[in-house]
Amino acid sequence: MDLIANNLKNIHKRIETALLQNNRPPHSVKLLAVSKGQPITAIYAAIQAGQLCFGENYLQEALNKIDSIPNKAIEWQFIGNVQSNKTKLIAENFSWVQSVDRIKIAERLNQQRPQYLPPLNVCIEVNVSHEENKSGVALHELFELASAIKPLANLKLCGLMTVPAPGKTFAQQRIPYQKLRLAFAELVAKGFKLDTLSMGMTDDFEAAIAEGSTLVRIGTGIFGFRK
Ligand SMILES: *Cc1c(COP(=O)(O)O)cnc(C)c1O
Repeated sequence: MDLIANNLKNIHKRIETALLQNNRPPHSVKLLAVSKGQPITAIYAAIQAGQLCFGENYLQEALNKIDSIPNKAIEWQFIGNVQSNKTKLIAENFSWVQSVDRIKIAERLNQQRPQYLPPLNVCIEVNVSHEENKSGVALHELFELASAIKPLANLKLCGLMTVPAPGKTFAQQRIPYQKLRLAFAELVAKGFKLDTLSMGMTDDFEAAIAEGSTLVRIGTGIFGFRK
């Protein structure tokens, strides 16, 4: 069997095992294939194997791929740092942006989302590990940002995303994900209608699933190392 198809099968198996071990319903985690730094051929191999959701970090690279894969069934998600001069092309070409961490970016995406498309699904990226020089809003600023995004009609605030500092052990990996889960629960308690907790990457997605992740973002685990 093709390597990428085999990797996808294994990741799905590990996701379902983690769900079972944590008494969570089957198929309650969505798999986003992170294809940054990977060639189009790798994306085609994943599509052949049934994968339809792809995450990209760099706009130009993503646009080249989106243009050369004219398959309407594919969902493209932007997961990289959003620069304000790139918001228009992002609003026009993606169905999700997981990495909103400033109101200015949210407002621009809202203004620039074409009316012929459904509202842009967004997640707020949270910097739970308090790392400097890292994107993501601080936990204490999260409620204010979520409240500011809520009334923007062309955006649909779906949930939260985080990229924590790598943890060495399973227990360490769970700590930032637990923080994001609690922040998510607090927003839901305050009336936000959220359903997406985007956490977990190749090296730690089982810890994220133990903490309630609903969407894992896997790159190297599917495609191997990237350039
Ligand atoms: C690159 C990237 C991933 C995937 O990381 P892997 O370790 O290759 O699985 C997930 N999320 C974000 C935001 C990324 O930039």
